[in-house]
Amino acid sequence: MLRCAVCRGTLESTGPGYSCRSCKRLYPEEEGIFRFKGETPAKEYHFPEGGFDVLYRSEEGSFWFQVRNRIIGALLSRYVSKDARLLEVGCGTGFVAGYLKQQGYRIECADLFLEGLNYCRKRGSGYAYYQYDLYDPVFSEEFDVVLACDVIEHLEDDARVLANLNRSLKKGGILLITVPACQGIWSDIDEYAGHKRRYSRDEMKKKLEAAGFRVLRCSYFMMLLFPAIALSRMRMGRRETPGNRQHEELVERAKGELSLPPTLNSFFGRIFALEVPIISHMDLPIGSSLVTVALKEREL
Ligand SMILES: [Zn+2]
Repeated sequence: MLRCAVCRGTLESTGPGYSCRSCKRLYPEEEGIFRFKGETPAKEYHFPEGGFDVLYRSEEGSFWFQVRNRIIGALLSRYVSKDARLLEVGCGTGFVAGYLKQQGYRIECADLFLEGLNYCRKRGSGYAYYQYDLYDPVFSEEFDVVLACDVIEHLEDDARVLANLNRSLKKGGILLITVPACQGIWSDIDEYAGHKRRYSRDEMKKKLEAAGFRVLRCSYFMMLLFPAIALSRMRMGRRETPGNRQHEELVERAKGELSLPPTLNSFFGRIFALEVPIISHMDLPIGSSLVTVALKEREL
C-alpha cells in the first residue's frame, strides 16, 4: 500500500501519478520518476557536491564497488527468490540495483536525490524509480526485500529510519544493510562523505532488534585489506582546522580512493574477492564494513 508522505492517508493511482484520498495532495510522475517527496526540508542531508558524478564515473572500475556487489548478491541469493519484489533505498546512481537486475531480481529504486535517480534511469538499473525521504516513507507492507547499501550512516536518526524500513516490508520480509564499520578508523574521509558514525556489529544488532527485526546474518567485510585501510586512515587522522587547501587535498584523497591505479585496483580486487565465498557461509570477525541480513519479525 502507498501512503501520503504528509498526512499518511492512502494514495490512489491517478493517471501518471498518485493522489492522496485524505489531503488531496498530488504526487506526479515526471520523466519516469514518481515524486513522493513530502514537505520536510532535506536540510540534514549532506552529500558532497558533484558526488553522484564522481560515483557514476568511478563505480564500474572500482574493485570496492564491484566486490561489494558480489557480496550483496551472494548473501541475497541465500535468502531471497528471484520472484520477490525488491526495493533499494538510497540507491544513488544505481550501481547495486543494476547488478541485481542483471542477476534476475525484480528491483525498484528509491532515493531522495533526483541527480542519483537520473543516473539510475540512464543505467536502466530498476523496474521503477521513486523519489522520497526515508523520514517520510510512502510504502506500507509493499516489498518482500529492502536494501540500504551504505545509506543509514548518513542519517542522524537511524533508529527512526530502520523502523520506517520495517513498515515498508511485508511480514516475513528481508532487509539487507551495508554500513561502514569500526569507529576506530574514523577519518576526514568520513567527514567529507557526510557520515554520522561507523557501526559495530553489536550496535547494528541492537538497533535492528529494536526496529522489529531478527538478525539472520551480521558479518564484517573488507577484512583482508583492513590493515592497509586502518594504516592509511590513521595516518590521515583528523585535522584540527581544515582550511580550503586542506579541503581540496581531502577531495583529491577521497577521489583517489575511488580510482586507484589499475594494477593496484585489480590486485586489491583479487584479495577482496576471496571474502565472497566465505561470507556466503560464515561471518567474518573484523573489517572496515558490515553487512547484515535481517527478517521482519514484528510489526511496529
Ligand atoms: Zn495526504
